Amino acid sequence: MLLLTRVVLLSALCAAALGCPRIISRRQWGARPPRNRVPLRTPVPYVIIHHTAGNRCTSQASCSQQVRGIQNYHMDTRRWPDIGYNFLIGEDGRVYEGRGWSSVGAHAYGWNYKSLGFSFLGNFSSRVPNAAALNAAKSLIQCAVSKGFLRRSYTLTGHRNVNPTSCPGNALYRVISRWPRFKAKPCGTEQGNEKEKKEKKGQHKAGLSERKMLLLTRVVLLSALCAAALGCPRIISRSQWRARTPRSRDRLRTPVPYVIIHHTAGNRCYTQASCSEQVRGIQNYHINKRGWSDIGYNFLIGEDGRVYEGRGWSTMGAHAKNWNSKSLGFSFLGTFTNGVPNAAALNAARSLIQCAISKGFLSRSYTLKGHRNVSPTSCPGNDLYRVISRWARFKP
Ligand SMILES: [Zn+2]
Ligand SMILES: [Zn+2]
Repeated sequence: MLLLTRVVLLSALCAAALGCPRIISRRQWGARPPRNRVPLRTPVPYVIIHHTAGNRCTSQASCSQQVRGIQNYHMDTRRWPDIGYNFLIGEDGRVYEGRGWSSVGAHAYGWNYKSLGFSFLGNFSSRVPNAAALNAAKSLIQCAVSKGFLRRSYTLTGHRNVNPTSCPGNALYRVISRWPRFKAKPCGTEQGNEKEKKEKKGQHKAGLSERKMLLLTRVVLLSALCAAALGCPRIISRSQWRARTPRSRDRLRTPVPYVIIHHTAGNRCYTQASCSEQVRGIQNYHINKRGWSDIGYNFLIGEDGRVYEGRGWSTMGAHAKNWNSKSLGFSFLGTFTNGVPNAAALNAARSLIQCAISKGFLSRSYTLKGHRNVSPTSCPGNDLYRVISRWARFKP
């Protein structure tokens, strides 16, 4: 019973956490209707990564235009019934629906019936996709698993591993070859099954019921999946952004029950260099002008998709009076009164919340609040407030 509860809890946690990246539907990007569709038998065992080898794009308008161009090329020149890929991923951090989850793609000869084809928009022979695109792709893979379209025991591979092609480009290939479940020779599934059977047998001998063992396996698998998926966003350490030493530190008793969202009400930033500069400026202001021991927030989130370590997980912040000892304070770098943070920052924040849970610093039954819900302030800005008020576990 306990095991079953854990499975259910973990599944729910994963589903909520992994969520799924923002997916721009065919209607939204202005797709032509497909000439026909062949249903894909899911869950499939493989994910195959491609690049489009075309131009990169960093906004929904320009990515949509790229995707329409690719669809025209695949339908008119290649004479395929539709755009080849199941999904495409832009450097705007958005995912564009191609043939989707349930139609056989045309992206990897001999493998279309047993795989999902995800393609990065751009040419990644000598350059890697930005953090927004890489995060979106990882999130899309976990989304496929959580929705039941991709086997939990999936294999990740590059187009070049199954067909004679340089796709997805040398630089991108190097990145994905370090991702979980990557195999350069994706054909060892029989061996895997043998091994699994043997393990099950051994466990049987140990005297545990098969059902219990299966549940236990699910817990282990789900935990691993969650850990890998939730991962945690890229966190730029204090030494990396060149923080000053704090004057003092008060220990935060974790796990805390609250996350409080702020904006810095300063400038937005889109690169590690400019976000680091912003964060140093905020630290100087908090220490010199406010007389605090350190930068007030526990973490800051840039529109470069990176998270900047403030006081971190285990030190009490100075971000919301009377709430500092029972909360983590996450602040978006920028002013979000009119205009919302980009997808990279929003994804990083959600991932940071799940990361806090998976590391045990935030209670699983946490409550999400905006700064304005606990203090008389307009923080985190009207537009950002509207966004977070639709997030899971938000309570004003
Ligand atoms: Zn390809
Ligand atoms: Zn605030």
